[in-house]
Amino acid sequence: MSLTRRNFIQMVPASAAALALTSGSTAKAAEPIHHVTVLGGGFAGCTIAKYIRMWSDGEIAVTLIEPRANHVSCVMSNLILNKRLKTADLTFEYNDLQLKYGVNVVRDKALKIRGPQKQIRLKNAGWISYDSLVVATGIQFDKIPGLNYKNAPHAWIAGGSTNKLRNLINKMPDTGTFVMTVPKTPYRCPPGPYERACVVADILGRRSGYLDGSGSTPPRVIVLDANPGIQAEKSTFTSAFNDLYGGIIEYIPDAQVESVESDDPNSLVVHTTQGSFGGDVINVIPTHGAQSILRRSGLTGESRWADVDPVTYATTNTLFQDVYVIGDAQGTSQPKSGHMANAQAKICADSIIRTVHGQSSYTEERLQNITTNSACFSPITYDKASWLTAVYSYNPDTGSMALVPGSLGEAHNWSTRNFNDMFDWSNNLFADTFK
Ligand SMILES: Cc1cc2nc3c(=O)[nH]c(=O)nc-3n(C[C@H](O)[C@H](O)[C@H](O)COP(=O)(O)OP(=O)(O)OC[C@H]3O[C@@H](n4cnc5c(N)ncnc54)[C@H](O)[C@@H]3O)c2cc1C
Repeated sequence: MSLTRRNFIQMVPASAAALALTSGSTAKAAEPIHHVTVLGGGFAGCTIAKYIRMWSDGEIAVTLIEPRANHVSCVMSNLILNKRLKTADLTFEYNDLQLKYGVNVVRDKALKIRGPQKQIRLKNAGWISYDSLVVATGIQFDKIPGLNYKNAPHAWIAGGSTNKLRNLINKMPDTGTFVMTVPKTPYRCPPGPYERACVVADILGRRSGYLDGSGSTPPRVIVLDANPGIQAEKSTFTSAFNDLYGGIIEYIPDAQVESVESDDPNSLVVHTTQGSFGGDVINVIPTHGAQSILRRSGLTGESRWADVDPVTYATTNTLFQDVYVIGDAQGTSQPKSGHMANAQAKICADSIIRTVHGQSSYTEERLQNITTNSACFSPITYDKASWLTAVYSYNPDTGSMALVPGSLGEAHNWSTRNFNDMFDWSNNLFADTFK
């Protein structure tokens, strides 16, 4: 079956339109002036779907295509490992987008984009046409010889894999060995892998009694980093690794994964350029890039990520008119974070609405105000966290986003106050994105 633009619009539940109108929301019943199709219901996709509906005053129809029934947030997901949170706490349904904002949510998977024809192929619905297309499909992992996710979960796209890793940590010996890898940059959430090392060291260090001195044998957390050094909050993590978790965490830079033995859960080994490391649990986070739909369709060219103009987030590939890429899949040098995906989505939403109304996105005033920001909070212990923030602005001379001098902020230490602030910050981000 091939879906037409009209079919898609009609799939918005009748109750959504009714509720939107009675609740004073922005959705209008009139025929839309334009139709935006969004691929991917994560941080980038949900934010743009919501904001296009709100800022266009309901004049632009939005269809969100997502293969999963709901979204499990990676943000905060390391707290599933130490059971401070449950998956349900980080699971967001698409009801609010549908009912409050009139977004048409379709459960399907996009397989291919044909730029010149302005068409996408969906797994269930076949080929459909779009007016504008926003690609917000996140990341995909490189294949690693021997890596079997059943026995070595990545837990880097949150959900079942995170639960599996929690269960394996739960069952491993108190003084056992946990081996994890850090992918080559750029990867999703720069401090995230180091934060994970701390969370796991805290779990095992408490359980074994090593941290409070009641046990003398340390568990081991081996961090194999494909990069030459710690990639974010260097002084905080160096101090956490050497002091707080000294004797537990062993950090090894320049360790690129070559292959893995993981078919037998009782014999798990990571082979790297710095040697081979066996563990009771291994957590390999492969190097990643944009999802294969972008690669297959020609949106990434030779790169792993889609090159975009950061004024609009339109792809720079001229075969694809009215196609935008936001969030982790895009290839600007900005950090890959949920906070950043949310910020990019708003710039892209504004630009699409301007284009639909025949207005330029390149006015001097707008160019001066193109800024994005990123924030990552990192749990370091069971109840203490650190944080990292950065602001980027558009540089018209280079046509790229640049870190605003002096904007890089770091907690420089971990504290309970930061831990509590982390929940305020994440709840704001979740509400702004999904609700
Ligand atoms: C442990 C961890 C901690 C993190 N902590 C932070 C933090 O403190 N702060 C922060 O800002 N960020 C953090 N992040 C990073 C953040 O989660 C990502 O940067 C963010 O999820 C990127 O958003 P996205 O919309 O680009 O991708 P995603 O959120 O991954 O969404 C992509 C969506 O696209 C869907 N999709 C995939 N393929 C297709 C297809 N072919 N068709 C249709 N849909 C498709 C997927 O199902 C998914 O729902 C963390 C990440 C991890 C792993």
